[in-house]
Amino acid sequence: MRVHHLNCGSFYPHGKRLVNGRGGLLDTGLMVCHCLAIEAGDGVVLVDTGFGIQDARNPGRLGAASHRLMSARPEIATTALSQLEALGFAPTDVRHIVATHLDPDHTGGLADFPDAEVHVFAPELEAARHPTLRERPRYRSAHWEHGPRWVEHETGGDRWFGFESVRILPGLDEEIALVPLIGHTRGHTAVALNADGGWMLHCGDAFFDRCEMDTPPSCPPMLRFFQNVMAADNAARKANRERLRELADNHGEEVDMLCSHDPHDLERRQAEAGSTATIG
Ligand SMILES: [Zn+2]
Repeated sequence: MRVHHLNCGSFYPHGKRLVNGRGGLLDTGLMVCHCLAIEAGDGVVLVDTGFGIQDARNPGRLGAASHRLMSARPEIATTALSQLEALGFAPTDVRHIVATHLDPDHTGGLADFPDAEVHVFAPELEAARHPTLRERPRYRSAHWEHGPRWVEHETGGDRWFGFESVRILPGLDEEIALVPLIGHTRGHTAVALNADGGWMLHCGDAFFDRCEMDTPPSCPPMLRFFQNVMAADNAARKANRERLRELADNHGEEVDMLCSHDPHDLERRQAEAGSTATIG
């Protein structure tokens, strides 16, 4: 199985040191949208989609929070669709998309793969369909007005390193499971993938900087603030982040953890894979 690490969208917020932990206060920071393209079976499984073609044509589609506040700059060249085409895949090769959650920086590309099944933890789809007043600005119905082929999943007693989990795509040789980590949103989930005998865990927005998993943990102040403000359930978010730290402590050799928005972690992985072309 081959896993491609793609940056499918970049944010350029002010205050680099506050966002990236280094650089000047007046410099522009960088956040990425780290998506996975997994060659599995006779097609591709995408984990998250970042910004899509329509977002690049009309950035307002992402909503004011992403577009203006966080200075998102969607570009056609960095969409999952463009990058997969450059790798030799057709849009219809993407049979499945697994969404960590349905914030707009994770769903912009759904419409670029209308034939794919979109796997989501059921409480997240419920939140997106029936948002509370506070949740309403974060979910962008324009991202699913094409009518995605949703596949909702509930947990049913499976366990993965002590976490609740649900295996999806049982027809594939590759083992892929949702590992719900609620807090950032009501139905936020990580995605576990058995890759070459070891586990990879895409933690989505359960943390924003790889250093949050270190002992002792650290996090640039802007990211700490942003996570606190954006959380649907901040106590649950912090508790789940603590559980991830324990996982990193106890099983760091067996589980390779990553998150959506850390540019340094993505850059390192792309450099190891011999490709830095997609970093924004
Ligand atoms: Zn995000």
